[in-house]
Amino acid sequence: MVKNEVKTTCSYCGVGCGIIVKKDNNNKVIVEGDKDHPVNKGMLCSKGMNLHYVANDTSDRILYPEMRWSKSHPLERVTWDTALDRAASVFKSIIKKHGPDSVGFYVSGQSLTEEYYIANKLTKGFLGTNNIDTNSRLCMSSAVVGYKKTFGEDSVPISYADIELADCFLITGANPAWCHPILFRRLEKHKEENPDVKIIVVDPRKTDTANYADLHLQILPGTDVVLYNAIGRRLYEQGLIDEDFIYKHTDGFAAYKDQILGTKISKAAKICGIEEKDIKKAADIIGLSKGFISMWAMGLNQSVVGVNKNVALLNLSLITGQVGKPGSGPFSLTGQPNAMGGREVGGMANLLAVHKDLMNEDHRREVAQFWGVEKINPKPGLTATEMFDALESGKMKAVWIACTNPLVSLPNINKVEKAMKNAKFVVVQDISHKSDTVKFADLILPAAGWLEKEGVMTNSERRVSYLPKEIDAPGEARPDVEIFCDFAQRMGFRGFNYSSTEEIYDEYCAMTKGTNIDVSYLNYDRLKSEGTFQWPVNQYGHKGTDRLFQDKVFYTPSKKAIFNVATTLENTSTQPNGEYPLILTTGRIRDQWHTMTKTGKVSRLKTHYPKPVLEINPVDAYLYKIKDGDITEINGENGKVRVRAKVTEAIKKGVVFLPMHWGKQLQNDLNRANNLTNTHVDPVSKEPDFKFTRVNVCKY
Ligand code: SF4
Repeated sequence: MVKNEVKTTCSYCGVGCGIIVKKDNNNKVIVEGDKDHPVNKGMLCSKGMNLHYVANDTSDRILYPEMRWSKSHPLERVTWDTALDRAASVFKSIIKKHGPDSVGFYVSGQSLTEEYYIANKLTKGFLGTNNIDTNSRLCMSSAVVGYKKTFGEDSVPISYADIELADCFLITGANPAWCHPILFRRLEKHKEENPDVKIIVVDPRKTDTANYADLHLQILPGTDVVLYNAIGRRLYEQGLIDEDFIYKHTDGFAAYKDQILGTKISKAAKICGIEEKDIKKAADIIGLSKGFISMWAMGLNQSVVGVNKNVALLNLSLITGQVGKPGSGPFSLTGQPNAMGGREVGGMANLLAVHKDLMNEDHRREVAQFWGVEKINPKPGLTATEMFDALESGKMKAVWIACTNPLVSLPNINKVEKAMKNAKFVVVQDISHKSDTVKFADLILPAAGWLEKEGVMTNSERRVSYLPKEIDAPGEARPDVEIFCDFAQRMGFRGFNYSSTEEIYDEYCAMTKGTNIDVSYLNYDRLKSEGTFQWPVNQYGHKGTDRLFQDKVFYTPSKKAIFNVATTLENTSTQPNGEYPLILTTGRIRDQWHTMTKTGKVSRLKTHYPKPVLEINPVDAYLYKIKDGDITEINGENGKVRVRAKVTEAIKKGVVFLPMHWGKQLQNDLNRANNLTNTHVDPVSKEPDFKFTRVNVCKY
């Protein structure tokens, strides 16, 4: 039962808007924007303002555990005791026979921090494998590597409050007008009030964000590094660089300078498919600005050269000295609500909790001591795509999937389906029967959803917020932390007998003490009574940290920021050829969230973009004899998709676009964009290359 009025945070994107939850006369949840919240100041986007439908509608919810005794048996309802005893017995027997690396967990940037922490402690500390990865691998892992290489740690330097202090924005590989709408509203308002503010957008598509820009650089997919280096060259040649900052606070400038001077701007313009004058114009706007903010999302991260794109962009903040001061800095736009919280607790196969490094022996020892275990396995775990490869090949036998729907979201879905069919034991812990992944489960565990459990999340600007439990979960659904802890105890592991979620949070906070993400002075009481805080919060009474690196001291061994040279200027993805002449790029639409298990239930969110369509340029449409509205078949090396065409100038010639949300359950398997996507990943971040798959198109 909801009390009169409670404050919480939106469960969708990384903007992290504050929401007030009430109940109406019919005892139904209603939501409104929190006017006092520092992020959204009362505003909500279409997804956030319809969250009450999701909270009130339990028609698709998983209500009790279901299990099958073998692959040939049907699923049947079982008790929690039977379900978790079976899970523990199967995991024990597989680990005994095949070793700890034969099992793994695949979790989510939508999990709360406590859930993420416990799943990591269980896997890395007690099961003895680092096979725990997350759908954040598909989202932010290239940005994580970029930050670590440049600043020495995965640390977003700035705040949303810096938006109102900046006069130049480079938005690249992102469409915040649709995907981070409240953040974009703040940007629009700032520009309306300050018409001299300049917005540059880099995107192969003419999105709503691009339509709002002063300058749109409609580059060819994958050419970002060449563009950013060309901007760097122009800044250097025009003397629009901060020599004092470069000299005193950075390393690696000489090598960077050599690289940017290696390609003429005219040549870069040809490679990128844009005009030379526009590159120069962009550089001059950036170089003459007082406050320069770069913003980016999946267009950079989801690439076989995602890390190179990130470091090349970060170099522009360094060369202009636009870091650690008001209204300036690089700002990665997180897709999921708690992707950053997941990174804090070591939620990926190559990370340890509190930003410690799995490859560092001292860090492994410290984490092992904190958890009271003998050691942490030094072998990096399998990343998201590697885990499903291992299930397909039989190297991994069992997988536990929580709060994510890989049967829609992973690249090359047909391969993922084979992996799931080949797995010996699949546990799916979720809230909705609409998830395509549930269909492959040997054990289905009903989880509590938004408002049905408590915990914290961290948004894109390092802001930690507390989400209260305000309604009871339907049926027998339980909070994820309870499920993980119950399983751990049935495995015979000590250290999981918590009396509350708060106790788990306190343990995590204690672990952060003395680190760069120290929140040891931020407890539930403060979060409940004082609101949200940006980490670090490392002293008694500390009010949080709005901006990092104001002292120009970075987290690298030299304390200086590092210019990293891109290892290649090329996009190393498989290039188009005669058989597959077009480049497919995929992405999100305005009113849907990920795989539509929540937003897909809300009728009014379906009106804006009711069905998936293929966006295709008029020149390509003419070439392939396709008219607007025709059913088209898109063929790639991994599969095919059949949807109607939308012929539009908004997409660059040679490029086609499909939205990523639709899965088999909601329509049919020929709507899934990921039937087509390739299996390339960035060699360092292991993030998949969703933005560059070669395809052909014909009228069906
Ligand atoms: Fe929720 Fe993001 Fe919309 Fe804010 S912008 S209401 S966090 S989906």
